[in-house]
Amino acid sequence: MHFVEVILPLSLAKTFTYSVSEMEFHYIKKGMRVAVPFGKSKIYTALVIEIHQNKPELYEAKEIHQILDERPIVTEIQIRHWQWIASYYMCAIGDVYRGAMPSALLLESETLISQKTDSFIDTSLLSDDEFLVYEALQQQNSLKVQDIIAILNKKNIFPVIQKLVDKNILVLQEEIQESYKPKLVRYVRLHPKYESNQGLSQLLETLKNANKQKEIVMRYFQLCATEKTQGEAKPITVKKLIEEANSSAAIVKALIEKEIFEDYFLQEDRVNFNGKIREDELRLSATQQTAFEEIKESFTYKEVCLLHGVTSSGKTEIYIKLIEEYLATGKQILYLLPEIALTTQLVGRLRAYFGNKVAVFHSKYNNNERIEVWNQVLQKSEKAQVVIGARSALFLPFHDLGFIIVDEEHEQTFKQVDPAPRYHARDAAIVLAHSHKAKVLLGSATPSIETYFNAKSDKFGLVEISKRFGNVMMPNIELVDLKDKYFRKKMTGHFSDVLVEEITNALSLGEQVILFQNRRGYSPIIECITCGHVPHCQQCDVSLTYHKNKNQLRCHYCGYSMAKPTHCHECSSVDLTTKGFGTEQIEQELISIFPNSKIGRMDQDTTRGKFGFEKIIDSFKNREIDILVGTQMLAKGLDFDNVSLVGIMNADNMLFHPDFRAFERSFQMMTQVAGRAGRSEKQGKVIIQTYNPNHNTIQQVTNNDYLGMYNEQLYDRQIYKYPPYFRIIKLTLKQRDFDKLKEGSMWLYQVMSQNLNMPVLGPEEPAISRIRNEYIRTIIIKIPQNVSIGNTKKTIQKMLNSFEAVAQYRAIKVMLNVDFY
Ligand code: ADP
Ligand code: ZN
Ligand code: ZN
Repeated sequence: MHFVEVILPLSLAKTFTYSVSEMEFHYIKKGMRVAVPFGKSKIYTALVIEIHQNKPELYEAKEIHQILDERPIVTEIQIRHWQWIASYYMCAIGDVYRGAMPSALLLESETLISQKTDSFIDTSLLSDDEFLVYEALQQQNSLKVQDIIAILNKKNIFPVIQKLVDKNILVLQEEIQESYKPKLVRYVRLHPKYESNQGLSQLLETLKNANKQKEIVMRYFQLCATEKTQGEAKPITVKKLIEEANSSAAIVKALIEKEIFEDYFLQEDRVNFNGKIREDELRLSATQQTAFEEIKESFTYKEVCLLHGVTSSGKTEIYIKLIEEYLATGKQILYLLPEIALTTQLVGRLRAYFGNKVAVFHSKYNNNERIEVWNQVLQKSEKAQVVIGARSALFLPFHDLGFIIVDEEHEQTFKQVDPAPRYHARDAAIVLAHSHKAKVLLGSATPSIETYFNAKSDKFGLVEISKRFGNVMMPNIELVDLKDKYFRKKMTGHFSDVLVEEITNALSLGEQVILFQNRRGYSPIIECITCGHVPHCQQCDVSLTYHKNKNQLRCHYCGYSMAKPTHCHECSSVDLTTKGFGTEQIEQELISIFPNSKIGRMDQDTTRGKFGFEKIIDSFKNREIDILVGTQMLAKGLDFDNVSLVGIMNADNMLFHPDFRAFERSFQMMTQVAGRAGRSEKQGKVIIQTYNPNHNTIQQVTNNDYLGMYNEQLYDRQIYKYPPYFRIIKLTLKQRDFDKLKEGSMWLYQVMSQNLNMPVLGPEEPAISRIRNEYIRTIIIKIPQNVSIGNTKKTIQKMLNSFEAVAQYRAIKVMLNVDFY
């Protein structure tokens, strides 16, 4: 009797027992993958988490199909961490497994398989099984793994597929668009024997009678020289050399044969980095040095430290110094960022110090790139000793983490919303660090209330920097009262006279401007003047946003779009007007107010695609854009040295969001956007346009008064029973049938409020109460600090189980969000 306990990549809370042979039993280790049958005909890639001899009582254990790995690809620490995530965030272990692994490591019966188009196939070399699969693919473009099972009439087919993939005949669906093999780029350089000057004259001598060859060599020298003046020497590709010299591959080949040139290959993802490490040592300022020492000091008795340093205080440099120390100990380092978009700038900065020891991991990477980093981390390769990534990098197979940085720790994107696991990467990182005995540094200019509370109550260390690096002054913030400006007719579109004047000023000095508007599109609402009708999405309970560019109304929740109506759908009136404004409208207004300036826009609509964001950032950095308009994407830790003015078009729509974090978020957002101004010598200026200049939060932003904001919010949180005093669990119920949902959510609410001795709120109809035709209700549970959260979750789970047992409620989807953000 030999068994393995496995996790399946499905939304199932249980683990499953499969039987294995005695030989397999001795071979298999925890953390290896096995292909297993499930249900009537499905096959999945499961993960072994236990090897045992206990026969399951309730079912007959099926046999595994096969072992997929020669050694574990998931570590035991990872498995424990995933189990913690499943239990803390109340989701299935299968959800965590599925979310954590690169999808190419999760081959299953539904995976699509196709023939590789560009490979030559010698069918006489194929086995019978391989040939059958090959032949089937001549009839149709793609097959599912389960089709192949039928064709071969056997279950053990993963090895056949694997062989065909290895022979370069098959590809898995996802890889078809995404180029599986790391691309190699061919470069050319001078043969080492010509490196000295003496060698050079000898070289030109040998080429005296070979004009074409001489030409290309001369061109090579020119290229080296021009590339060098723009910084460090860049490698030169064979392709570029041939193009530039108007030459041919044959001539390059001849030169290589003569040993004048030599060629070499680099992987494409290494190309951006040219391997030159900065020689000048990074020197911290006295203030930075003190902070650095204090952090290390705090790590001697605490596991987590908060670095609260104002924008542009040089936190990144302190991180770099700390990384340096941990690198020397041989440990692995994880650097978490809230957004992939930020990585480009940062990777550049880190590679300048640590060269190819820096790897990047994020969801825009294709399968192969992700597997490559996965394996590097698993093998403790030097190439991934420092991993930079968004929240999912937390799931990599680290063996020996020494240090985790969570930069911009206050950012809400660290919390995954959908699908499960709905984990908070900062909090999960702290738990992960604990099992590695690693240290965690949280960094922010505007820490979250929870984190600052933990630091103030001595749970975390606290190190603060209140000065900018190089004694650059904090920006000067000026408030513009919109009510007064509209009343006195001092507005041009959405621009006050003050803002227009300041922009004009900045532009005349050759400086750049950032304008912040927290909404995309042209205007959020189109309204009929005659009857007041506002077009809504047919599937969601939201009004449609007008996008002038495409002359469309669009739903930002489900993507539905329609042409802009010429008349009201209710009363046929043609008098339609727009209300509110988004980035697109600001961009339009700028074009007419500043016709001679170059204007860029950065929001979800302009940054699609793998490098969409980078392109805009780069052209702003290279000063090809004078004024950049954008949404909150702008607020995130970008470092531009020529921005002297930041304008916040309207502070009010952030403030009056119906959310207990609205004031905290507004403060963070405005302070962060303001922090983009004046990062070099000259003091920067920030203009905030608002109808509420006397609002506490706006005053706190203006006075750079983080503590004032913190104390006020903390007071409110205590009174209104929110974090950090209460833990929040939010239940979201969804169902297409309105009445069923109403009834079901009321049933659940009543059971919960009767059985839980704590505040239970709801069932509430949220502000947007229908998305993609599903109605929504929410229930909020507030768990007081002194109550066991583990026991409460058990009770909640029990009630959910009985809820599911009621037949008429079974179709209601319930989603749990622990520590709802
Ligand atoms: P923060 O992350 O705190 O907003 P940064 O780390 O981006 O601040 O630093 C702000 C600017 O100051 C950057 O341009 C950075 O290169 C520069 N800087 C900070 N510390 C140093 C240092 N020790 N030596 C040289 N330049 C520094
Ligand atoms: Zn109308
Ligand atoms: Zn919609």
